[in-house]
Amino acid sequence: MLFLPICYTDKQTTVREVVAELKAAGASWIQFDEPTLVLDLDSHQLQAFTHAYSDLEASLSGLNVLIETYFADIPAGAYKTVTALKGVSAFGFDLVRGTKTLDLIKSAGFPSGKCLFAGVDDGRNIWPNDLTASLSTLHALEATVGKDKLVVSTSCSLLHTAVDLVNETKLDDEIKSWLAFAAQKVVEVNALAKALAGHKDEAFFSANAAAQASRKSSSRVNNAAVQRAAAALRVSDHRRKTNVSARLDAQQKKLNLPILPTTTIGSFPLLQSLISEDEYVKAIKGEISKVVKLQEELNIDVLVHGEPERNDMVEYFGEQMQGIAFTVNGWVQSYGSRCLKPPIIYGDVSCPKAMTVFWSSMAQSMTSRPMKGMLTGPVTILKWSFVRNDQPRFETCYQIALAIKDEVEDLEVAGIQVIQIDEAALREGLPLRKSEQAFYLEWAVHSFRITNCGVIDTTQIHTHMCYSNFNDIIHSIIDMDSDVITIENSRSDEKLLSVFRDGVKYGAGIGPGVYDIHSPRIPSTEEIADRINKMLAVLETNILWVNPDCGLKTRKYPEVMPVLTNMVAAAKLLRTQLASAR
Ligand code: GLN
Ligand code: ZN
Repeated sequence: MLFLPICYTDKQTTVREVVAELKAAGASWIQFDEPTLVLDLDSHQLQAFTHAYSDLEASLSGLNVLIETYFADIPAGAYKTVTALKGVSAFGFDLVRGTKTLDLIKSAGFPSGKCLFAGVDDGRNIWPNDLTASLSTLHALEATVGKDKLVVSTSCSLLHTAVDLVNETKLDDEIKSWLAFAAQKVVEVNALAKALAGHKDEAFFSANAAAQASRKSSSRVNNAAVQRAAAALRVSDHRRKTNVSARLDAQQKKLNLPILPTTTIGSFPLLQSLISEDEYVKAIKGEISKVVKLQEELNIDVLVHGEPERNDMVEYFGEQMQGIAFTVNGWVQSYGSRCLKPPIIYGDVSCPKAMTVFWSSMAQSMTSRPMKGMLTGPVTILKWSFVRNDQPRFETCYQIALAIKDEVEDLEVAGIQVIQIDEAALREGLPLRKSEQAFYLEWAVHSFRITNCGVIDTTQIHTHMCYSNFNDIIHSIIDMDSDVITIENSRSDEKLLSVFRDGVKYGAGIGPGVYDIHSPRIPSTEEIADRINKMLAVLETNILWVNPDCGLKTRKYPEVMPVLTNMVAAAKLLRTQLASAR
């Protein structure tokens, strides 16, 4: 499998060389992954694409070449470009995420004599294929592309799903019967291909239909009360009654924070490894108390409890919600060598009892400073889980939002005055195609507002976001209407600030990260003060917060202590300078 850069570069030689080597090694098929074709490419980019492949044509002769796209519908222009390429024998499309591509193939036609790799089996999720529906899709495609020219395929690489259900020792049989991991998907693809060739395994197809019917009607999936509550959300857009500047005033009267207040994003490194089950509460309490003392010593203004009780910011909440299952071995790659086990959202989501109040109130009782309650937002829980394929994503997101709303209100009742609802993955969830982005942002931002529309003015709602490239969605971020947002900034070389330089008005509190937590490097007080000064040049003094880019759990205490010391010192330095400049 090769990744070919779309633009003309000197890498072209390398691709040619690799192709030659593969040929010499006896390869008869080569697949080029070109997921970029599902983006909104302009005509120049498409031309470059054509050029790149015509340049390769000679090297590719004698080989079967497949160009594979996935993750969304291929736009009509790109479809035309790619299917017109000479020297290519097959084209692959994601027919799961791309729901309109099927019609495009039918209406625009398919080059005769070429093969179509029909991605009918979802490579990104853990649900079994609807074999009967796929078979009828395949029959219809066969009529367009011709007999023996259709190849049954997964919608994308199986890298995105878990490996094999046989490794799941803790899932009950019923839930297991509703799932298909990579190994099971390969069997499905094979069964479809055989059926297409006239050898349908009737028993396999009926078992598949029965499992789907059982999931559809199961009381573990359907919760009428949750469905009613989610449906009722449509009547309002869930905004807090007072505008953000009035709220910030009311909050400041209660919280009485200095200008440039300091805080962190939530997690602290673990001080010690945790021991036996019965010692659990005591051990966690010990961790929290150390983290609280430490922040008081560092003189941080708004404290966190350090999240020592959490395995993962999504898994921790998922485990306490109904309608969500967990695997023991359903690992998928997150990035680099980091893997995680996404929760499986299989049914209507609800949460029978408070999830974080116990730990947050314990932490608050240890200090007179404000203790931030720490929650993961609905969009991030949705995005980092395997989601239901039997209802729209926004429906599932609204249900999670209602569960988090209850938690926000429980925290408020318990006396927590500052509550952070992390939406680390909001930007990451943005659809690839521009035409789908507005709709996504609308329901994602609405879900966030649902979680905190019910709190009183003096309760300060924070949100936090990782990853860069916020500039194109800044208006949606503003529309989240949170009182304070802490946002990754240093790692992305302060690209974020340019949006404010360009004149976007941001009236709520904002804490662009002052240092990169992904690196062990310890920036000096002057360096951090310099960063804050850059922010002060584009943002009002009274809305700026001082905090790291993200949580500290991947760092070690010997790094965290000096860097937070410097961060607080930088904030103090600037407070003094600002006070004397008045
Ligand atoms: N509150 C979380 C933490 O500090 C946020 C992590 C994240 O944004 N990825 O660990
Ligand atoms: Zn983060």
